[in-house]
Amino acid sequence: MTRFWHPVADMQAVSRSGELVIDRGEGCHLWDERGRRYLDATAGLWYANVGYGREEIVAAAAAQMRRLHAYSHYGDVSSRPTTDLAERISAFAPMEDAAVFFTSGGGESVETAVKLVRRYWSLLDQPQRTVIISRERAYHGLAGYGTSIVGSDVFKVGVGPLAGDTVRVPWDSAEALAEAIDHAGPHRVAAFFCEPIVGAGGVLLPPDGYLAAAREACRERGVLFVADEVICGYCRVGDWFASSRFGLDPDLVTFAKGITSGYVPLGGVIVGTAVQEPFWQSGAAGVWRHGYTYSGHATAAAAAHANLDIMEREGLAARARELEHEITEALAPLVEHELVSELRSGLGAVAGVQIDPALLADDPDLTDRVTLTAREHGILTRTLVGGGLQVSPPLVITRAELGELASGLRGALDDVAAAG
Ligand code: PMP
Repeated sequence: MTRFWHPVADMQAVSRSGELVIDRGEGCHLWDERGRRYLDATAGLWYANVGYGREEIVAAAAAQMRRLHAYSHYGDVSSRPTTDLAERISAFAPMEDAAVFFTSGGGESVETAVKLVRRYWSLLDQPQRTVIISRERAYHGLAGYGTSIVGSDVFKVGVGPLAGDTVRVPWDSAEALAEAIDHAGPHRVAAFFCEPIVGAGGVLLPPDGYLAAAREACRERGVLFVADEVICGYCRVGDWFASSRFGLDPDLVTFAKGITSGYVPLGGVIVGTAVQEPFWQSGAAGVWRHGYTYSGHATAAAAAHANLDIMEREGLAARARELEHEITEALAPLVEHELVSELRSGLGAVAGVQIDPALLADDPDLTDRVTLTAREHGILTRTLVGGGLQVSPPLVITRAELGELASGLRGALDDVAAAG
């Protein structure tokens, strides 16, 4: 019986079957406390982009901790790695002259972005622009606003009233988005939040032309476009950001995870000039009373620099573009399996292996059994909302390791199918 209350867990089941205690990692592999070795099919929760055991990140974090582990950044105070990191991110951001607001993770980034767009409109004397539109199936973290705009109702059960003025649209239709804005009245809509690839909601790739059309629908109606790149950012989709790859020129980008590859928690919001303007230039805003104790934490910033150095040196954005083909090639044979209905892949180093919804209708735990059985085959994966298996390995994965991943998943599928 553990005293650790796990996130997103059935604690009765955890108490019954015990914890899987992960002990160490190297490259794309992890070892549990009993010494069993696993291939990490998911890069933790989509974050370990440079893989495990990177001494240079450890050294950068340790050096920063010895010098100054952290100091508050409220008001005019900064730390060198933090100011430099904002500059560095701005230089490769998908919009010109961006500024960066730091947080401790994706959830805080979404909170910050919702408050920021609403306050922006209020400063522009349009306080009635409060509606936030997001996509069905989208995931935006589980803080207050995130829970309110997340696209799956499973995350909203039993918590009572959530934030008002939120609207969901089908995940795959820019026309539906345009109609929803028009229906609400463009003068009422603050922003559209869009994960370029819906991640935790099932790895749903954008239909051809969707992102550009959605971006345009917002632009034409004066609605801010927020790219939630908590998963897509920092090389996973074959460029620094998916927004860069698709030329989206978003107003805001939320990020976390890949900025440090998860070596220490860090997130943030990249803000384009339009939204900066009333806060920075007109003086109308005064103090924006928003921020976190660890906004721009110096040790996290130092780790981020070392992580970005690795990404640049090893060309991990380009590697992700190769992986989009290699992952598809490795996993395509699984579609023949009786439990599998579809492989969603081919854009960036992400894939969803869909367990047949017709089977899931009678047996909702089927994917969970495959996920658990995969451990016996040396693969750590996850069940996505909608019953798919998550594949989003570290970007340093090799072809041989992809083979190991595919055959481990195949073994798990066979075992579960045979058990009936
Ligand atoms: N947005 C997206 C797109 C995410 O994938 C996640 C996390 N999976 C979040 C927000 C929330 O991030 P965190 O769990 O760090 O709060």
